[in-house]
Amino acid sequence: MYNIFITINYLIVMYRMTKVLDLSNDVVVETIDVHKVYRLGRIEIHALRGVSLQVRKGEFISIMGPSGSGKTTLLNIIGTLDKPTKGKVYLDGEDITALSDKKLTQIRRKKIGFVFQFHNLIPVLTAIENVELPMVIAGVPREERKKRALHLLKLVGLEDRVNHRPSELSGGEQQRVAIARALANNPSIILADEPTGELDTENSKMVMKIFREAISEEGATSIVVTHNPIVASLTDRILQLRDGKIVKEEKPAEFQLPYIKKES
Ligand code: ADP
Ligand code: MG
Repeated sequence: MYNIFITINYLIVMYRMTKVLDLSNDVVVETIDVHKVYRLGRIEIHALRGVSLQVRKGEFISIMGPSGSGKTTLLNIIGTLDKPTKGKVYLDGEDITALSDKKLTQIRRKKIGFVFQFHNLIPVLTAIENVELPMVIAGVPREERKKRALHLLKLVGLEDRVNHRPSELSGGEQQRVAIARALANNPSIILADEPTGELDTENSKMVMKIFREAISEEGATSIVVTHNPIVASLTDRILQLRDGKIVKEEKPAEFQLPYIKKES
């Protein structure tokens, strides 16, 4: 009897341990005390002053802040496009601040999807070819990548625009292609820098809703940088950045939309 009791207790402890381990595996991105100093001649610009954050699998978070607060710098550091002056960045548990440029290029291709303010689609390629491009680089066989590109374009509601070139698409449609492209290689994280910066309010909302749905449908994770409160209110969690520091964390429900009337 006593033995059974010990065994059950042992199993409970083991189960809890796996839970704890699971939880830590759940973190896709972690930054610890990240600083960035740019040096322009004798002038030093402290773009980031100790940013620590965690993003868990499946989360869709936003980083808000005024122009110059360090949003792009932070996103570029998480996206391996830039290196911190001090601090650590973990992607899927791996410290990416200590890797060679060759390894970083591989990580960027495999694990990170980017969406920029100006969509950066290739003008001479059609929508489907643009979505296929990251898969071409990753060596995905032709049939498979056509199938996946079509699936992703359907996901963002562009199944009837697959053969259009970027110039034949509206701004919102171009950003939806960019979102599909960012999802192509099943990245660990999608980083979007002002993805709706060039769109009007209605299109911003529409693109964000489609973005959100695509992320959850694909089981992806994303960080969106924006200074638009409507865009931020459509994410799970809002981090406020001021002068290179996170000063506040909010849930959209707590978040006061300053000048927008709620739709009924
Ligand atoms: P945000 O995206 O929030 O507008 P940034 O991250 O672009 O802010 O910039 C943060 C600060 O760092 C700003 O003061 C900006 O001028 C400066 N900065 C950004 N990139 C560079 C760079 N490559 N060289 C020098 N200063 C930079
Ligand atoms: Mg910026």
